Amino acid sequence: MMAEKGEKQAKGKNKSSKKWTAYEVSDSKAVKKLKSCPKCGEGVFMAKHKDRESCGKCGYTEFQKKH
Ligand SMILES: [Zn+2]
Repeated sequence: MMAEKGEKQAKGKNKSSKKWTAYEVSDSKAVKKLKSCPKCGEGVFMAKHKDRESCGKCGYTEFQKKH
């Protein structure tokens, strides 16, 4: 956090910091990708499983089709 300004000055020297930022963005994206339960409404998220998503609150399950 503190090094943010310093990283811009040291452009090209610290490429790994850029990678970390990209990871952070994709990570928060994955969180947003979680579906909320259509039965319980917004705020109740479906748990992701291998081939399905299910709500831990009401048990609603949605199967995912993979190509
Ligand atoms: Zn639910």
